Formats: sequence, C-alpha cells, structure tokens
Amino acid sequence: MSSTHASELVTSVLGGLKAQMTDFVFQNWFARADFSFVDEKTVKMRVGSKFARDWVCDNYLGQLKNEFYKKTGCETEIVVVCETPATKTGTDSTGVLLSHPQKTTPKKEATFVATNNLGLGLNPVYGFSHFIVGAENRFAHAGAQAVCEAPGKNYNPFFVYGSVGLGKTHLAHAIGLSILEKNPNKNVVCVTGETFTNEVIHAIRFDKTTELRKKYRFADVLIIDDIGFIAGKEKTMEEFFHTFNALFDSRKQIILTSDKPPRELEGFDERLKSRFAWGLSADIGKPSFETRCAILMHKASQKGVTLSDEITFEIAKQVSTNVRDLEGALCRILAFSKLNSFSLSLDLAKTVLSEFLGKTVLTVESIQNSVANNFGVEIRDLLSARRLKKLAHARQVAMYLVKKHLPLSYPEIGQKFSRDHATVMHAVGKIEKLVEQNTTLKLQIENLEKNWNF
Ligand code: ADP
Ligand code: MG
Repeated sequence: MSSTHASELVTSVLGGLKAQMTDFVFQNWFARADFSFVDEKTVKMRVGSKFARDWVCDNYLGQLKNEFYKKTGCETEIVVVCETPATKTGTDSTGVLLSHPQKTTPKKEATFVATNNLGLGLNPVYGFSHFIVGAENRFAHAGAQAVCEAPGKNYNPFFVYGSVGLGKTHLAHAIGLSILEKNPNKNVVCVTGETFTNEVIHAIRFDKTTELRKKYRFADVLIIDDIGFIAGKEKTMEEFFHTFNALFDSRKQIILTSDKPPRELEGFDERLKSRFAWGLSADIGKPSFETRCAILMHKASQKGVTLSDEITFEIAKQVSTNVRDLEGALCRILAFSKLNSFSLSLDLAKTVLSEFLGKTVLTVESIQNSVANNFGVEIRDLLSARRLKKLAHARQVAMYLVKKHLPLSYPEIGQKFSRDHATVMHAVGKIEKLVEQNTTLKLQIENLEKNWNF
C-alpha cells in the first residue's frame, strides 16, 4: 500500500471514529496516536503509555476494527503498542498487545511484607487507622478492637464474615498489626486458607509435619484469611482442627475470615463448625452511600489528593457494589487525570466512570450495533446495499432510533447509512406507523432501548 493511500485511509478511519465518540474521548485516545501499516492487513497503533494501550484494547478495539472494515471491506488486525523511550529504538515486544479483546488482569494482591520476622504475612497498609468505620462494619470493628485489648481472652475465635471486597482481610490484618504494635514479641502468623492448604500438602509430601506444627502451634495469634478454602480438604481440615485445639487450649488468639457465617459453611464437619462459633462472629455488610463517601475521601487523601464533594458523591452514587470496586474506580480516575495532565473535574470523573462501568455512549454506531445484535444481522449487512427484507427492516429500525435519540438531520443520518435523505425519511415514517400498530415491534424496540445502559 502506498504511503499516501495508507495515510488517507487512517485519516478517514479516524474521521469515522471521531463521529462516534465525544471529543474528549477522541482527543485523549486517538488524536495523538500514531498509525502505521505493518503489512496490507495489519496496522500498528502506537500510544504513549501502557495505561493507554490497555484502555484502548479493552474499550475501543472493536470500534476501530469496524471502522477499518467499513473503509477497506476486509478484516484488519490491529496491534496496539506502547512505545516508551526505552522501546522506541528496540523492538516493541514489551508493549505489544494483540487485537483480541483483552480482559484486564485482576489487580495483584498487595505484596505482603513481614514487618519483622514475627509478623509474617501482614500487610502494613491494612492498619486500623486506614479502616473507615460505618454502620455496616461497626460491630465487626468493635469486636476487632476488643480482641486487640486482650488477645486470646475476649473473643476466641474471632470470626469475620461478609461478601467479597468489604474489608475482612483488612480488618484481620489490622488486628495482627495492632497486637504487634503493642507487643512486638508476640508471634503473629497470618496466612490465607489457600497457603495453609499448600503448606499441609507440602508437609505431607516431604515428611515435614513437625516443622508445620512448629510454625502454627507456637503462634500467639493465628490469622487464617478465607478459611472456607480448606472446606472438603480432609487432611488440611484435620491439621487445622488440631492446631485450633492446641491454640485455643493455651489461650492463643485465633482470627478467621470467611464469605459465609459459620453455620452456613459447607464441607466442614460439625465439630469444626461449632468451634468457629465459640467466640464472636461478626459480619460486614455493604457500605452505605455515606460510608462510601468517607472511604473515597480517605483513600484519595492517602494518595495526596483532595476530592471535591461533587466528584466524591458521583463516584459513591455510581459504584455501590463493594469497597474494592470503589477503590478501583478512584484509582482509574486519578490515573487518568495524572497520565493526561487533566485537572480532576466532574466531567472527567463521569467519563472514566462510564467506561469503567461499561456503559454505552449513545452514538449512531452504538445504535447500529445494538439493532444489528437484536435483529440478528451483521453490522456490515446492515450498512450494505443489500435489500433482503430482514435487512431492510433492521436498517429502517436503526434509522428510526437514530432520528428519535440523536439530534441529527435526515441528510446526516443518510450519510451514516450511505443512503439519501428521502430514504431515511421514508424509513422513519414507516417505523413510526408500525410501532403504533404492531405491539410486538413496539415491545422489541422498547426492550432494546432499555438495554442501553445509561
Ligand atoms: P475482603 O477481604 O472482604 O474481600 P479486603 O479487606 O481485601 O476485602 O478489602 C478490599 C479493599 O477495600 C482493600 O484495599 C481495603 O483496604 C479496602 N477497604 C475495605 N473496607 C474498608 C474500610 N472500611 N475502610 C477503608 N478501606 C476499606
Ligand atoms: Mg479477603
């Protein structure tokens, strides 16, 4: 392909994309990117950061490929690379992501560091001072503090339960950290149920059960995070049962976390389940709007940022699932504004949130896609000249919806469908009438509109 042709093609693809998104999004992800052809069917898109590369791959590859398809009539492979100064002169291998839709890899657990060789496995960030108390975790928090006052005496075991991302691990680590802070000589051992299981398997395999028992049975405080993991694993449960008894009898503190209360745990025998409930069980619920706001402000200030009330309210309003998601949304917004040197505005927060939450921005393209999916036709057929009845009907519905929801004129809509304005007028009028007469079509269209997730 000649370089003039390539550059015209890219300009026209970018023009098509620009019409489908807000100026803000286009400027941010596409205006500064650099495109080059590796061969006839492969385009390399260079962006300035790994964040941008992941973002484009996660959110815009489909649209980009579609635009190339519209202009060239064939599938184009798109390789998005991040070219930092280090990779500019060498290969792109570190920054290459292929154009298959990529899922963001889950955030890695924070690295666990031993505060000293006794506080094994504790994350120093998870202290009480960073744990925000609200109505939903007040009881669990009070229980945790009481445990710290007199480990092994007040509530043994202390069993914290609740669904994912609500702060169970944080609270359990806070107890360990606080006990160590008061008395650095305490032997605090903190592991996940999974690590405990692996250690038991390893000990059995290599005949190291004595070492294993030494590690656990000499603990002053034993934290097992996500005890549910050992369910149904007989040898591990057996080992845990004896460890529990030994520690309990010598008044050592045991702290367990789980996604279910003791009585609802499956795969444990009764003697273990009843032991779980001997001390205090406390649940953590979903944070209320107010708690979410307080957590956001605290997390932002930990990162040295002051969030305005309106941005805090917006994030807390939109993200209500759990604290981990709340943190994820905040991190994206902060990263987005930092990497692009944008000031932190409500508009920016809304844009990032809508992408974060996978909401659709209503554009001609998104309406065409949604109609094509719903009517079981291919987008390329919807935009083609073919007159098959099924296609023509879907095309007319798409035109009708574009007219109904977007402030575009008939000629403008015509352009988007490669038709003249009279065809669009005819289509819109026809579907308007049909919707009045035909309840099935009316319902189908209403359902489709409901699925646009705003
Ligand atoms: P769980 O173990 O229940 O799945 P985590 O303890 O790992 O949840 O919490 C997920 C994230 O949310 C962590 O980064 C944690 O610091 C944060 N978090 C949870 N609850 C709170 C809270 N009440 N105050 C501050 N941060 C919290
Ligand atoms: Mg956890």
